[in-house]
Amino acid sequence: MTPSEIKVPSLEEIRKHLVLFDYIDGERTPPTVELGSFVYNPSTGEPIASQKATSPEQLERALQTASRLHQTGMWANIPPEVRAEILEHAANHLMTLVPVIAAIESYTTGVILSTTHFVNNIVWLAFKAAAGVLRQGYTVSKVPGPCGDVEILRKPRGVAVAIVPWNSPAALAAHKVANALAAGCPVILKPSEWAPYSCLLLVEGLEAAGLPRGLFQIVNGGAEVGQRLVNDPRTRAVSFTGGLQGGRAVAAACAHDFKSVQLELGGNNAMIVLADADIEKTADGIVSSLITLNGQWCRALGRLLIHETIYEPVLETALQKLRALRVGDALDPETQLGPLANPVHKTRVEAAIRELEVKGARIHVTASVPTYGFYLSPTLLTDANPQDTVEEIFGPVAAIHPFRTDEEAIELANQSPYGLGGYVFSADEEHAFHIARRLRTGGVKINGVSLLELNVDAPRPAWGLSGFGEEGTFETFDVFCGKSVVGVAAR
Ligand code: NAD
Repeated sequence: MTPSEIKVPSLEEIRKHLVLFDYIDGERTPPTVELGSFVYNPSTGEPIASQKATSPEQLERALQTASRLHQTGMWANIPPEVRAEILEHAANHLMTLVPVIAAIESYTTGVILSTTHFVNNIVWLAFKAAAGVLRQGYTVSKVPGPCGDVEILRKPRGVAVAIVPWNSPAALAAHKVANALAAGCPVILKPSEWAPYSCLLLVEGLEAAGLPRGLFQIVNGGAEVGQRLVNDPRTRAVSFTGGLQGGRAVAAACAHDFKSVQLELGGNNAMIVLADADIEKTADGIVSSLITLNGQWCRALGRLLIHETIYEPVLETALQKLRALRVGDALDPETQLGPLANPVHKTRVEAAIRELEVKGARIHVTASVPTYGFYLSPTLLTDANPQDTVEEIFGPVAAIHPFRTDEEAIELANQSPYGLGGYVFSADEEHAFHIARRLRTGGVKINGVSLLELNVDAPRPAWGLSGFGEEGTFETFDVFCGKSVVGVAAR
């Protein structure tokens, strides 16, 4: 589908969905605690509403509801096929909501419409995939024992908590929620305080599917509410996507009473451009990996490593393409790059660029951007010390370093403490494979940068500071399950 073919809901329609609510034990109630900041339309810079959090009393109600439902076993003991059927109904309903979810996200995160539309197909696909895991009989497997079969049972761990960031909230939430429910866990979702609205649409899908009340709940707020959920001993499994600081706090809380935890954190992803790479295609890859989700993508380009013999033409071609980008309102189908998500994040990204400039980096600012809103021109940095460019910036910003040998390229790529994505461009795929296999990172794409996975059922691993516990169709399901092995002993 081309951007101009996407049906854009009217602003009036979008605004109808900008009413925040907690969803606790099947009831929608307004959150009451003021957080002292705003949710914005980043394309214009206008505040939409004040950020709100769920009160401690309501949070307690949500935890009590989830815990009670887990103890009754009413969801865990439903046959997997029936759970699958409900999730499939939810998927069918959520499919119809994709245009609205996408428009809400473009309006509140600044990510352009073609991307939010594409990414939010994951919302319904996640429910279908989780149902598929149940349909395959994944909850019970058998191995031979001394006296007949030994059963390996996957059982729900208990109350599950899903915490998501602002860059692609509904799709990330759907993946976690669908898997928690498929595994048999009551789940509490906490969206980001910066972009909570699109996640609320999951309620419509799950209500339409007839999910028993209380099994899916939403609470609102920032780090404090997230931390309370994670600290609570009734919570038994946590899936968190966000930054390193939050990830470390969540990991520490889960360590206390050994909760199951999945952490999907940041990345500072390298692209290695070998001497024989096609310059046009590589430059397209650079632009795309830099501007997807306005550069606020965990697998976005962070460090561009170019063979010294093609350094100049690759840099020049990439700069030309970046200068030609149309930057503007995320809801305009012609826009290729939107703004950063919020003013705090923009300040953070600008400070990171300034810090590198002070340390001696040369800054190449590219496309012209509107003076209102939270826009940032895609920026390439040259002449920085590689030691100074190992941290994630999370914007359309990449540092460029030349290299001479394969060994040098691999060393530079593996220098970052993160390990989520990576890219290699070369005319010789065998050579690219040879290098890609040696990168200490979760996934490497050769000659491409698409948001699409190489295979939807392949795991999405994270190395180093990028996280803990793999994501994936079966991997995320497993976060919410414990195993029991049952069989007749040898006599
Ligand atoms: P963030 O860590 O500030 O917030 C993420 C979510 O966690 C929010 O809902 C926030 O309220 C909550 N939170 C923050 N601190 C918490 C704490 N101590 N305890 C519990 N909850 C807490 O991240 P962000 O700024 O919203 O998102 C940007 C980060 O997310 C980037 O680092 C990016 O790389 C990462 N990210 C990773 C992936 C991935 O799949 N690996 C995907 C998207 C984003």
